[in-house]
Amino acid sequence: MNELMIETNARLSRVLYFPCSPKWNAACDMKTLSNKLSFTRPILVSFTGILIGFMLIAVLVTLSQRKDIIEDYHKINLNFTHNLAVNYTAAILKENDYILDRSVRYFSRNDALNNTVNVDREHGLEKMMQLLVLMPRVSAISIADTEGHYLRAPQANMIGDVGNYDPKTRPWFTHQASSSTYSHYTDAYEDFFTQKKTITLYRPVVSPEGKLKGTLAFDLDLASMGYSLRQMQSPVQGEYFVVNREGEAILHPDSNVLLTQKISLPMMDKMTNAEGQVYDKQSHNWYYYYAFTNPDWYVVFRVSDITLSDLARHETIIVAWGFALSAILVVLFGLYLRYSSRTVLMNILNAIKTGDVKQAPRLEAMLSKAIISNKERELTYVRQATVDALTGCKNRRAFDADITALMNENRPFALALVDIDNFKAINDTWGHLSGDIVLRNVAREGIEVLQPHAISLYRYGGEEFAVVFAERTLEDALALLEKWREKVAHRTWREDNMHVTFSGGLGEWNLEPLDQLVIAVDEALYKAKQQGKNRIICNQEV
Ligand code: GH3
Ligand code: MG
Ligand code: MG
Repeated sequence: MNELMIETNARLSRVLYFPCSPKWNAACDMKTLSNKLSFTRPILVSFTGILIGFMLIAVLVTLSQRKDIIEDYHKINLNFTHNLAVNYTAAILKENDYILDRSVRYFSRNDALNNTVNVDREHGLEKMMQLLVLMPRVSAISIADTEGHYLRAPQANMIGDVGNYDPKTRPWFTHQASSSTYSHYTDAYEDFFTQKKTITLYRPVVSPEGKLKGTLAFDLDLASMGYSLRQMQSPVQGEYFVVNREGEAILHPDSNVLLTQKISLPMMDKMTNAEGQVYDKQSHNWYYYYAFTNPDWYVVFRVSDITLSDLARHETIIVAWGFALSAILVVLFGLYLRYSSRTVLMNILNAIKTGDVKQAPRLEAMLSKAIISNKERELTYVRQATVDALTGCKNRRAFDADITALMNENRPFALALVDIDNFKAINDTWGHLSGDIVLRNVAREGIEVLQPHAISLYRYGGEEFAVVFAERTLEDALALLEKWREKVAHRTWREDNMHVTFSGGLGEWNLEPLDQLVIAVDEALYKAKQQGKNRIICNQEV
């Protein structure tokens, strides 16, 4: 009994030594190798990196672009204000100023002023009307001597009480000669005759000897000057007008708002440069301005901050959409790369498995070559790894692989273990070389019997063989084993008096673990030896 236990344990340890731990390690290695070979992870990491970088750039570009756009609009608006002031307002003012200058020179000479106002008024009026026609934005011309005698063109005696009119009370009337040669602008006031708001451009008429002779004054038609502002096209939505130092509208496309407060005094105080922009935090408006010195007027273009923000947002949204679409493309390409790399990997894997590289494109010729030679090498290794060199049977590695496959597929099978009887004695009597020949011949007899039935013979170890009968009845298995046994037993050997026999144990797999099955079959083999060798014992009724 003890002997049985020792033998069984020894056999068990032989069974157990191979499949477990190396397989476990192999599984672990396989996992780390799969991770290393996986395309998905680096592709995912790379594209996430690209996407995050892309987003950051998009945010930075959008923010800096917004700032740039607003800056650009400031420049555009300032430019518009500059043009409005220099090419439009200043041009009108200069035109009037020029005519006033020429006229004053005329009236300062000799007795021209006195003649016009006091001597030949008819002729004087005619001359002034000729002058007035030259200036479409001047509504009336007044000329007065120092005494307060005056002539007005057009003659205004229809409205108001002309008799009460005293030019000395007018803001343009010059009481004292001054050395200034510039024209003067009055503040806005109501015209005595038309009762309309007006501003008068005037100059004292001073003789070459320095004697004050009177004043020449042009009443500016603010409404008409303002109307022509309507022709201007502003680059962005906004309101443009001309204000005086107090922030009251002097010129405006809408004549109803003339002389109303358009800009608060604190804001006016901020307009300290010749031109520039100021921001009103209360009304959220930008004021672009151009300051004249004479008159003390400001050309102003008012734009709401909301308008600028809307414009900037509109432009940044277009860019943001561009970025968003590009990001979607990056994601799609990432997914495609992931998909295609997996497909390529699968194709390579398939080619390595089957050795078929017909479908590989030309560029991958080198890879194909490597695959072919790898496959050939692999086949050689497989041959070497699964065939026993001495006997030509399959080896123990092949046995383990085949039997594990059967068990995994739950295919029924019977297992036989065969052990040559008294082999030690054979070795001892005829030598080790003869022992080898015996081993080879016993195997060949077995192969001859089993191979026609597509049954494999394995060298299990030393002088032991294993036979796996897949999907065969125990009866069939036993019959084939008996046939083999008898062939060996009746064989004549070259060596004198040599008789070779073997004993065998047979058992059916009943879903138990492999080591249990081996123990059971081994016990049957042990029984065969006990019962006198040269026999096959089955561990159950056949
Ligand atoms: P039993 O009938 O109980 O099986 O006795 P046995 O002598 O066959 O058993 P034992 O286990 O005592 O001896 C087996 C011998 O087989 C021992 C070993 O030297 C020999 N042997 C194992 N492998 C080879 C081999 O490849 N070639 C040769 N010539 N001998 C081998
Ligand atoms: Mg043995
Ligand atoms: Mg033996």
